[in-house]
Amino acid sequence: MSFPPSALPLQDVARVLVVTAHPDDVDFGAAGTVARWVDEGLDVAYLLVTRGDAGGFDETPRDQMPLLREAEQRAAAKAVGVGQVEFLDGYADGTLSPTLDLRRDVTRAIRRYRPDRILTNSPLRRWDRIAGPSHPDHLAVGEATTCAIYPDARNPFAFPELLREEGLEPWVVREVWYQGGPNPDHAVDITATFSRKLAALAAHATQTSHEDVESRLRPWMEVVAKNAGLPEGSLAEAFTVLRTA
Ligand SMILES: [Zn+2]
Repeated sequence: MSFPPSALPLQDVARVLVVTAHPDDVDFGAAGTVARWVDEGLDVAYLLVTRGDAGGFDETPRDQMPLLREAEQRAAAKAVGVGQVEFLDGYADGTLSPTLDLRRDVTRAIRRYRPDRILTNSPLRRWDRIAGPSHPDHLAVGEATTCAIYPDARNPFAFPELLREEGLEPWVVREVWYQGGPNPDHAVDITATFSRKLAALAAHATQTSHEDVESRLRPWMEVVAKNAGLPEGSLAEAFTVLRTA
């Protein structure tokens, strides 16, 4: 099972909602691209399903980790110009499934924010990289968000309480971008925004302060750029882009 070839991105996008499982997902996978979208005048918001309470490598007391990681994600968002960051409550890091509750919560966010484009974790596993992108929480968020895009958010009879009790009208998200999936074939040149991606990643001190992130990421992003035919020395992030309407 794999994705079809990416569609050409829509040219009339005004609002983007990023839905990820954990703090730092968007920054490892897409912060350079998000910085470009912000520069182009797009309105970008983040929705985090968990606060990453099972992450980290140090002696930080576990009860402090969610607060620390929430603050880190807000700082990382700021580094790429994103001001709106929301966290869902009631979901623990490491326990996610594409449940109806999660679909409802993502649907609520979609109907409130009304994005043209969603960027989220891939619901498809990469069998060549079991660790990292194919964390089960990522697959769950990718699946639940895809179900929220179609049919839930656009169907007035899905989760009817959202319309009845909260006045949230149906909304059609027209495009989805997946990060961390198999064979991503839409590359975005992030040479000019790489320093902001590094600043965003540095904000996740509980996750990144023990390593030299740049020396790990730069060669990887050079390969992505090279494979996409970008000029020597360019850096790129890669995605799968699909139309949903
Ligand atoms: Zn993650």
